[in-house]
Amino acid sequence: MYAVYHGPDGLRSIATRAHRMATVLAAGLCEGGVGVVHGELFDTVLAEVPGTAAEVVAKARELGVNLRLVDENHVGIACDETTTREHLSQVWQAFGVTVSDVDGLDADTADGIPPALRRTSEFLTHPVFHQHRSETALLRYLRALSDKDVALDRSMIPLGSCTMKLNATTEMEAVTWPEFSGLHPFAPAGDAEGLLSIVTDLEQWLAEITGYDAVSLQPNAGSQGEFAGLLAIRAYHRSQGHGERDVCLIPASAHGTNAASAVMAGMRVVVVKCDDQGNIDMDHLRATVAEHSDDLAAIMITYPSTHGVYEDTVGEVCGLVHDAGGQVYVDGANLNALIGLAQYGKFGSDVSHLNLHKTFCIPHGGGGPGVGPIGVRSHLAPFLPNHPLQPAAGPETGVGPISAAPWGSASILPISWAYVRMMGADGLRRATLTAVAAANYVARRLDEYFPVLYVGEGGFVAHECILDLRGITKATGVTVDDVAKRLADYGLHAPTMSFPVAGTLMVEPTESEDLAELDRFCDAMIAIRREIDRVGSGEWPVDDNPLRNAPHTAACLTEQEWKHPYTRHEAVFPAGVNAPKIWPPVRRIDGAKGDRNLVCSCPPMEAYQS
Ligand SMILES: *Cc1c(COP(=O)(O)O)cnc(C)c1O
Repeated sequence: MYAVYHGPDGLRSIATRAHRMATVLAAGLCEGGVGVVHGELFDTVLAEVPGTAAEVVAKARELGVNLRLVDENHVGIACDETTTREHLSQVWQAFGVTVSDVDGLDADTADGIPPALRRTSEFLTHPVFHQHRSETALLRYLRALSDKDVALDRSMIPLGSCTMKLNATTEMEAVTWPEFSGLHPFAPAGDAEGLLSIVTDLEQWLAEITGYDAVSLQPNAGSQGEFAGLLAIRAYHRSQGHGERDVCLIPASAHGTNAASAVMAGMRVVVVKCDDQGNIDMDHLRATVAEHSDDLAAIMITYPSTHGVYEDTVGEVCGLVHDAGGQVYVDGANLNALIGLAQYGKFGSDVSHLNLHKTFCIPHGGGGPGVGPIGVRSHLAPFLPNHPLQPAAGPETGVGPISAAPWGSASILPISWAYVRMMGADGLRRATLTAVAAANYVARRLDEYFPVLYVGEGGFVAHECILDLRGITKATGVTVDDVAKRLADYGLHAPTMSFPVAGTLMVEPTESEDLAELDRFCDAMIAIRREIDRVGSGEWPVDDNPLRNAPHTAACLTEQEWKHPYTRHEAVFPAGVNAPKIWPPVRRIDGAKGDRNLVCSCPPMEAYQS
């Protein structure tokens, strides 16, 4: 949006201005007798002040400016589009320099970018970077984009495994405050006390919630938490003289990130089978553990499982792996089914990541930023991530930084802080129970129309349920894609498709949906089942029916001729004309074809030849 609003000309003028500030700053320092290390620069000046760098930085701080203490002889100063001449004067003052004629200095100072490095080629040539230049135009562009989106403000988002719960306004509000949003990741700890107290509170609360002894908030995603957790396990094995332990067992049902993280952490992945109930095949696990008793590093399991069930063998799995010298990683992405009911750190796990952008209300529809903290038991605590530029961010013996910033995506932590603070222990527990009840309600209501694939003891699911469409597809030709797309005509967002089992839909309602919305979803699914039956009975051909042709756009509705065996009304108002309505902007696209045929709008490589 920054690029859309400013376009290439705006970005160039912003960069030019930042550069001008830096060159004038450097010229003023030189005039005052301070050494500047680089004659050619863009936005950053490195000043040389033998032996007095700390003094300069302290003086600047008194004046309200944080400069970078590079070492005892050097100070780094970066300018950006918010830098003003008043800032330059403050910095000069910190160095003991007085510039009397700033205008003259500005006029006399040459550019610091050597001609050979200047960009002459065009960039951001796409029309979108040239069309929206006023606030009204940008506002309308944003609105037009959001109209194409089906977000939580229009429908429940039943994406199983994603935990698309409400991001409450009160939780979100504080992240817009400059005290949080304007804080530099390397600001001195003394200038970040508010944020650091949120960090400390959250670390303690998450430890209490999970039953672990220590927590690191540094990882920026669940997958990064997995990586950090596995690094801790590897470091622990090495510290015990068992560097050879490098095998990571992963059940076939696991989220794809588990195996990817294990490989990144330098481990060898061995897959453990699942039985036809979707549970870990205990005989296969026993055999695999025995086979790898010398090189077993860890097992990564998910609890409740990605199949949406509380597997009752979890304690036994942990015991088996521990007896063979391995560590247990429990993927905590499904913590929304567990808070207040059980604690990973107490039933046999050594380390877990949590997804604050799932369970703890940070919005994550657009792909981030996220927070994937890890909790560990005390023997792994010395191997949590740390940071060379911020000793307080982790243990001295830690595995090093796994994110650029000491506390990761710290500026969004107020969201999760507010959630826990407002819910309290009792509220969090009730949220879990409500989420589990909602999933079981959907499962019970829909089972006779779309069989629920996996259930645990007593016929219950955890916080999500998998609807099995494979039999329906075989009998009628109607696929999961057809059902997912048809839900848009009913004014609803689709569930997760074909994960973790191909040909199924996984529904996770979360605690945020009331009974009316759960019923709207179930009613739509039941109505869709009746439509499927009309295809199954031969009334509608398999390649021309409201399901296969879904979603229906306003454009397709108003075509001159309507040649389908169902009415226009059936196409776009299946839930009635007064029901909440979504008008999808496009009809179905060929997803597989799109994935396999990259459309590149960049110039060909030959264009880069001199
Ligand atoms: C979401 C998820 C992850 C990965 O988390 P990211 O934050 O997307 O990296 C890992 N495991 C499970 C079970 C998940 O649902």
